[in-house]
Amino acid sequence: MQKYDYLIIGAGLFGCVFAHEATKKGKKCLVIDKRNHIGGNVYCENVEGINVHKYGAHIFHTNDKSIWDYVNQFAEFNNYINSPLSISKGKLYNLPFNMNTFYQLWGTKTPAEAKNIIDKQIKEHGVKTPKNLEEQALSLVGKDIYETLIKEYTEKQWGTKATKLPAFIIKRLPVRYTFNNNYFNDRYQGIPIGGYNKIIDGLLQGIDVKTNVDFFENKDELIASAKKVVYTGKIDEFYNFKFGNLEYRSLRFEHQNLATDNHQGNAVVNYNDSNVPYTRIIEHKHFEFGKQPHTVITKEYPEDWTPEKEAYYPINNDDNQKKYQQYKALTLKESNIIFGGRLAEYKYYDMHQIIASALQKAKTEFSS
Ligand code: UDP
Repeated sequence: MQKYDYLIIGAGLFGCVFAHEATKKGKKCLVIDKRNHIGGNVYCENVEGINVHKYGAHIFHTNDKSIWDYVNQFAEFNNYINSPLSISKGKLYNLPFNMNTFYQLWGTKTPAEAKNIIDKQIKEHGVKTPKNLEEQALSLVGKDIYETLIKEYTEKQWGTKATKLPAFIIKRLPVRYTFNNNYFNDRYQGIPIGGYNKIIDGLLQGIDVKTNVDFFENKDELIASAKKVVYTGKIDEFYNFKFGNLEYRSLRFEHQNLATDNHQGNAVVNYNDSNVPYTRIIEHKHFEFGKQPHTVITKEYPEDWTPEKEAYYPINNDDNQKKYQQYKALTLKESNIIFGGRLAEYKYYDMHQIIASALQKAKTEFSS
């Protein structure tokens, strides 16, 4: 006898949203995770009153009102706006690239002055159809911005020359001719008051959850316990790497509790220079306007990925995409398994996109 309708492998956002929707439809779910906590990479650890984003900074943003309303069911959001800074060769610049950045770079005070410089540099570069990230950046923002704020950061982040990276990565960086340091263009943005754990707890309320469970150690028994499976882990691992390993980029986080109330005056400061081994320092209290007498900072070091490390970013080159398509073809033949999330779909998803995707899959599942 199957005890559950759905076995959900992975307690990250995809798994939790799906479990919540299934439960609302009267289905009985078991959510398992190999980590010792739920929440996947949005998990926060409370360190003396400060919510520390253990797996990297997560700032919620979306343009979709229905997704915003969905997350607001579980927690109220504060009015945090992400306005990162970048340090390059000893100077501080505002991000994303906007009129403040242009003033810091060239002393330009009007949009026309700044546009003049950028357009001239784009023309000098002369590429019409960019084939890689370097060409994409040069054709969007010109040489000065690329060399001061993009090239070294990007090569450090991905461990690869910018000429070998796909152009789409850089399309994430907006350019604005206004004095506006808001990193995101989205209508809705903020950090959940009480932390992301509150959302996860809300999603999983009343649902059976088991942490410290490695699916692959008890695969047959676990699968036999439910009518259907939702898998959010690595897709290549699910199929025993039969088409070879998919590659990822990993990160190492170095957390420090400091006896000062304010270390850097902002939640996110990026470090562009290649001789600084980390890409950014996060000061967590600023996400929630914390007034604690101490502070917690996290240095984020990009790292090559090996199977025992956490897989953070899919590496989207042709080889990996080809391999992924082979795995994907197998998933389409499965009738009792649903695949979703960053690792199972090998996709650079943001939180709001994961939620939208889980809601869509749940809708399809429960409308039939
Ligand atoms: N990036 C950059 N300079 C910066 C920040 C980002 O060149 O100061 C580029 C880099 O290629 C990075 C991409 O923009 O991989 C996306 O960065 P973002 O911080 O938006 O994404 P995240 O790493 O938080 O998912």
